[in-house]
Amino acid sequence: MLVIMKNDATEAQVQAVVREIENMGLRGVPMPGAQRTAVCIIGNQGPVEDSRLLSLEGVKETIPVTKPYKLVSRETHPQPTVITIGDIKIGGERPVIMAGPCAVENEEQALTIARLVKYGAQVFRGGAFKPRTSPYSFQGLGNEGLRILKKVREETGLLIITEAIDHTNIEIVEQYADIIQIGARNMHNYSLLRRAGHASKPILLKRGFAATIDELLMSAEYIMSEGNTQIILCERGIRTFSDNTRNTLDLSAIPAIKEVSHLPVVVDPSHAAGRREYVIPLSKGAIAVGADGLLVEVHHDPHHALSDGMQSLYPEQFAELIEAIKHPYYQDRDVAGRRRKPNVT
Ligand code: PEP
Ligand code: MN
Repeated sequence: MLVIMKNDATEAQVQAVVREIENMGLRGVPMPGAQRTAVCIIGNQGPVEDSRLLSLEGVKETIPVTKPYKLVSRETHPQPTVITIGDIKIGGERPVIMAGPCAVENEEQALTIARLVKYGAQVFRGGAFKPRTSPYSFQGLGNEGLRILKKVREETGLLIITEAIDHTNIEIVEQYADIIQIGARNMHNYSLLRRAGHASKPILLKRGFAATIDELLMSAEYIMSEGNTQIILCERGIRTFSDNTRNTLDLSAIPAIKEVSHLPVVVDPSHAAGRREYVIPLSKGAIAVGADGLLVEVHHDPHHALSDGMQSLYPEQFAELIEAIKHPYYQDRDVAGRRRKPNVT
């Protein structure tokens, strides 16, 4: 349930509502909005008796939240969330480009690719800790990889996104990353999600390859219910019977998530496609349907990459992608990711 405060309600009145909710054995989370503040009630298993709340000063009305996820729901927070990191806005009018290798392999590799993607990216991606399907595959450089990522940021000015693989590992990743990635395999790792809820950095949460949109949003709710409101969702392909690509990019997830949630949504076309040939067309499709950004794998020497070389763009292809999405068709969007001039071709 949402307790909607009057436009002129004071902070003390909001706090009185929170205390009353706590007296009921529940939690109240204030959600300040452009026009008014709402207090979201979480923790209830069934309907909430609202007569005491309605009698408090500054309360306008109560409305039910119909979704199982509350804090990430658009019912609770009608305005889209825009995440600001330095000069970069994720969920704003321009798609944000995050690009780099699957894994940090060594300093020279990371710096070479970073200098190349700086052409069009705002964020450098690269795993220092890699959750791999096989225990015998390259597992990442670990802490040494984080040190290299720090150097990349210092030298290029790019922000850094890198993955945390469990609830202890996130401690060190948090110190180096500007955005902490939680991978598809970890979307159901609830101890990691809870710990991410206490992180001081934004979280990019990837959809599991067999997860529904509701399950993705419930995982995001785990993070937000612990206090971290800075969450970016990522569609990276799901498993279907189609076997001509590594996964099937679910483009319908982008408008579907935006309808029910206020969180920004980015697309990873690389892990969806599994082959570099499909990455540019899938990227264009993602932005055309309202994605707030792309997470793309790029490698200067993909044939010798230690992971995911097949799906990594050559630097020239990355430049081609950046040029393609400069077209007004992809750029002229409102903050909800909708094109302002749908007829531009
Ligand atoms: C990655 O981004 O390199 C990665 C491992 O992705 P996913 O978790 O989507 O498989
Ligand atoms: Mn990868």
